[in-house]
Amino acid sequence: MNFDPTDDQRRWRDLARDFAQNEIRPRAAELNREQKFPNGIIADMVHLGLLGMTLPEEYGGSGGDFVAYNLALEEISRADTSVGITMEAHISLGCSPIAAYGTQEQKEKYLPKCATGENLWAFGLTEEEAGTDAGGTRTTAELDDGEWTINGSKKWITNSGTDITGGVTVIARTGTRENGKPELSAIIVPQDTPGYSRGPAYEKLGWRASDQHPLYFEDCRVPEENLLGERGKGFRQFLATLDAGRVAVAALSVGLAQACFDEALARAKEREQFGRSISEFQAIQFKLADMAMEIELARNMVLKAAWLKDLGRSFGREASMAKVFASEAAKRAADGAVQIWGGEGFMEASAVARYWRQVKINEIGEGTSEINRQIIARSLLAETAKEAKEQMVAQ
Ligand SMILES: Cc1cc2nc3c(=O)[nH]c(=O)nc-3n(C[C@H](O)[C@H](O)[C@H](O)COP(=O)(O)OP(=O)(O)OC[C@H]3O[C@@H](n4cnc5c(N)ncnc54)[C@H](O)[C@@H]3O)c2cc1C
Repeated sequence: MNFDPTDDQRRWRDLARDFAQNEIRPRAAELNREQKFPNGIIADMVHLGLLGMTLPEEYGGSGGDFVAYNLALEEISRADTSVGITMEAHISLGCSPIAAYGTQEQKEKYLPKCATGENLWAFGLTEEEAGTDAGGTRTTAELDDGEWTINGSKKWITNSGTDITGGVTVIARTGTRENGKPELSAIIVPQDTPGYSRGPAYEKLGWRASDQHPLYFEDCRVPEENLLGERGKGFRQFLATLDAGRVAVAALSVGLAQACFDEALARAKEREQFGRSISEFQAIQFKLADMAMEIELARNMVLKAAWLKDLGRSFGREASMAKVFASEAAKRAADGAVQIWGGEGFMEASAVARYWRQVKINEIGEGTSEINRQIIARSLLAETAKEAKEQMVAQ
């Protein structure tokens, strides 16, 4: 086995680390306080190729592999998870489905603008009545005379209302299957389409410098060719999109956990009580050791899942495992960091107070911990059932 990143992966990680530590980290507190979308930072990341990572070079993308993308995303998130989620939602949720399922024309039309930063792209799945149960989508799209007419609404959609948002790919009900279940399809809706509007941005506990809005569709018409991939394949498409997205949210969590550790270690070395550095107390040392162990494990889980994806192998179970473990490890790291900072960690001015608020969403977005545990358990049960069947056939 080889745990060394390739030269290309290392280059992406180092480039992201330098930019994040020098340009993002010093501004993270202000962006969070003012709930200001980081337009300038996003523009700089575009110039560095970070917003086109994993997109094919023929469409202006940087052509990095999935491991490189997750290494870079960890570094960006280590500096600020608002910027991290903006990058993640654009690449994993916005662009990847178009790259994976789009027609040649769709890819040529949308991807170059997404890769070169003219546009951010959003992915609209969640609705008022369809959260974890995303199959319960109520938004409808009816095909008539060469046009889809979309009616309904979406909720909490990331990157949907920035100055450079190009549009959203929405999951809509396009019919009913013979078994009575909804037929779901993905449809591309450009930002300026009549009948498509957005509500005001949300006030949030964390990710306060990132952009989320409710979306409304009232007799919103787009051409028939805006269907993404095949009609009725929307359910499979979003499951696959979320598998990859979960690896990325896990990488984001590792970045945040690392930031917590960085702050905790620095404070432990600097703070003195009882005439000694608090880093000399075993209680503090054990907290640091636990954090470091969990970060190491979570990072390895992210990289293994990403490596499997790069090899074209099945990675859904590993993605869910990485997402659950990394998000929960980050929560423990944030808690430990505040504890090591003591009362100062409870003060608004401390970075660890911000991290403590940021961390919770990682256990919710792109599949809650509960649903990911269910995915892991189902895959284990299906595997053992398959093994039992194979043994019976062999006997
Ligand atoms: C800041 C933010 C950004 C987001 N960005 C996007 C985006 O860009 N695009 C998008 O489409 N969505 C987005 N989302 C939505 C996000 O993916 C959902 O919040 C998430 O899928 C969970 O849905 P829910 O919040 O409605 O929770 P619910 O489905 O209401 O779940 C509530 C609780 O019930 C549990 N639960 C539900 N069903 C089960 C079950 N079968 N078994 C056990 N427990 C269960 C859940 O785990 C959870 O603990 C965003 C959300 C937020 C907050």
